[in-house]
Amino acid sequence: IEYEEDLKQMLKKLNKEKKTSMYSMEKYKNAEKIRSEFTANVTHELKTPLTSIIGYAELIELGLAKDEEAKTFAKTIGEDANKLLMTINDIIILSKYDDPTSIKIEKIHFYIGDFIDELVKSIENVASLKKVKILKELDNFEVYADKNKIKDLVNNLLSNAIKYNKPYGLISVKLYKKNGNCVIEISDTGIGIKETDINRIFERFYVVDKARGKKSGTGLGLAIVKHVALVHNGTIEIKSKLGEGSTFKFSFPLNENNDLNQKEH
Ligand code: ADP
Repeated sequence: IEYEEDLKQMLKKLNKEKKTSMYSMEKYKNAEKIRSEFTANVTHELKTPLTSIIGYAELIELGLAKDEEAKTFAKTIGEDANKLLMTINDIIILSKYDDPTSIKIEKIHFYIGDFIDELVKSIENVASLKKVKILKELDNFEVYADKNKIKDLVNNLLSNAIKYNKPYGLISVKLYKKNGNCVIEISDTGIGIKETDINRIFERFYVVDKARGKKSGTGLGLAIVKHVALVHNGTIEIKSKLGEGSTFKFSFPLNENNDLNQKEH
């Protein structure tokens, strides 16, 4: 219900934007293309798990599933419902970032080692379902940052590191200080990213190789990551080798001057 309200707000915003924006024709066409790709992507992303949920629920209801089968069906329903929730979450986060007036940056002082430790703990279940192990090397020091946004960034990088990993793969999460920056480094032993794709993955809705299909989501995760890096005056570096794995390195200034002029966002 809570999400439904958020989604309604987002649609309202999108429609309003459509009416009032003064795009050049070129830009307008581009925006329209992105919007329709987005709608197609999102519709697909929402419909696929829902169709599966409805189908399996029906089988159980009709008594067409034996005990063991019913368990498997229930598990699939749970997984698909989770996927739905994650997609909706991404859409809501991004729609908030989209509207400059609604970006609230709430930077506070906190110990980032403790915080990342908690985030890793709460995703470890998901990792172990995929037989992926997470190793931690975390310093603990104070930063001045927006906790919720750092959480969005870390969770997105971690869930990609899980999603695009191999069974029995590893993830390493490192946190340290370097040259006045806080550095968070997340590496995986997964499928890797082609050089030509690396330049594009931060674009909204960009998913590498749609044929990889089932695995990839809406292509919103890294767009969120990029926004979080920007509002912390930070950078993201990627190193990746196809078939071997990827490293995402996020750095942002430790001092309180990491506030950024908001106009661009
Ligand atoms: P998605 O919802 O598709 O995961 P993202 O914006 O998070 O969207 O990522 C964009 C694309 O980048 C993904 O479709 C995926 O192909 C690629 N990608 C992201 N992280 C990784 C990773 N750790 N390893 C391999 N590919 C990745």
